[in-house]
Amino acid sequence: MNRTVHWFRNDLRLDDNAVFNRAAEASDELVGIYIFDEINFERGIHGGQRMHSRRAFFLWQSVMELRESMRNRGSELYVFKGNPVQILKELHELWSFTSLSYSKSVGYEEREREADVERELSANVQIHADWTHTLINMEDLPFSIEKSPDVFTPFRKKIEKYHEFTPPVDAPDVVPSFTGEIPAKALNYFEELDLDDFETDDRAALDFNGGELAARSRIEHYFWETKSLLEYKETRNGLIGADYSSKLSPWLANGSLSPRRVYSEVKRFESENKSNQSTYWLIFELLWRDYFQIVALKHGKKLFAENGWKGTPRKWRQDEKLFNKWTEGETEDDFVNANMKELKHTGFMSNRGRQNVASFLTHQYKIDWRWGAAYFEEMLIDYDVASNWGNWSYVSGTGNDPRKDRVFNTQLQADKYDAQGEYRSLWLD
Ligand SMILES: Cc1cc2nc3c(=O)[nH]c(=O)nc-3n(C[C@H](O)[C@H](O)[C@H](O)COP(=O)(O)OP(=O)(O)OC[C@H]3O[C@@H](n4cnc5c(N)ncnc54)[C@H](O)[C@@H]3O)c2cc1C
Repeated sequence: MNRTVHWFRNDLRLDDNAVFNRAAEASDELVGIYIFDEINFERGIHGGQRMHSRRAFFLWQSVMELRESMRNRGSELYVFKGNPVQILKELHELWSFTSLSYSKSVGYEEREREADVERELSANVQIHADWTHTLINMEDLPFSIEKSPDVFTPFRKKIEKYHEFTPPVDAPDVVPSFTGEIPAKALNYFEELDLDDFETDDRAALDFNGGELAARSRIEHYFWETKSLLEYKETRNGLIGADYSSKLSPWLANGSLSPRRVYSEVKRFESENKSNQSTYWLIFELLWRDYFQIVALKHGKKLFAENGWKGTPRKWRQDEKLFNKWTEGETEDDFVNANMKELKHTGFMSNRGRQNVASFLTHQYKIDWRWGAAYFEEMLIDYDVASNWGNWSYVSGTGNDPRKDRVFNTQLQADKYDAQGEYRSLWLD
């Protein structure tokens, strides 16, 4: 009998989850598990917890909805908190499963975890792992990972010229049921994660709810109901409100939404409405996302190094007082402050804001870029290892911005993108 555990990670969906589909087809029994990795509740290099309760809650909502979907299809999903290797070993003792399937990650630590799991289990368990996090097909790139372009434009051009996009696959109607015992350590309530409380703020750009359904209704709203997609290129540098950009990032980050589903919805929208620069631009941004996934995979541990993967020596300050002024939104720059307050109170910040505050911290204050990236890791509900650390290295000059010493003039940026000061009033008054 083939008894499979599918270890859900950043693939919290049944829609377009080819790894899961293959497991469901090949198994007599299948169960899903999700593990809140204990490493995320440790202190990061900036002193804060690596995952804020707000993101943990968004993840919890996503996992609970997934559990419902598994149950509706005849199977089960169990949730744990701890060390994945340890938990998988204990589950193997309890369930004697024969196969383990999971989605691969590009992050260095995440890949170390995968290697540990393989080392511990592969003697007794067949392991099936594959990619589900990218729009592009990682098995079919027009270059090797080692030789992938370090600059975005050549990367994009090669993909657009030579790559054929893979359509999404539908969720299975039925999933093999599971007869294994209920594990004593399985969690049923968010409170069992034992995290700090967090507040919500009615100024938030969007009330983000975790799970596949909320992701799909966001697409429904942004593409089909309001047709905001048609103006995305003109509005994407906005700062206030729900619809200046797609706001799909939190669902894409934890995999409750597949980038291939987004791509296919854009294509369907284009064929039923029209295509323009804006509809193209959303796909363009998804390619930025993929680009950073490849950068993370290619540069591994070096992506997180003090001098970045380029290794250009820079003198970073490690001044906690200045750093705290930045995190609290108490610098001399009101545009930076407004953005930092939005992040602190909601777990979200626009792309325009992110670029400005990252540039300010690393170029004005000259604070260690890794502190800023770690603070974002803690606070963002759309935290994605590759998008976050890749963008930080890009903006701080330790990565792949081909333009040397690009520094944002935050006051000019405020004049341009917040000319009437509405955004600053929203967060500072
Ligand atoms: C310093 C810094 C840190 C960042 N950290 C993260 C992060 O942890 N997680 C994350 O998802 N994005 C991150 N971004 C990228 C970007 O700011 C967000 O993806 C975007 O603001 C999310 O809003 P949206 O979904 O409305 O984006 P839209 O403008 O609607 O874009 C659509 C999608 O394209 C992708 N995308 C857009 N811009 C980028 C980009 N520059 N890099 C990678 N993907 C992109 C996202 O998945 C996004 O959901 C970061 C950017 C900066 C400058």
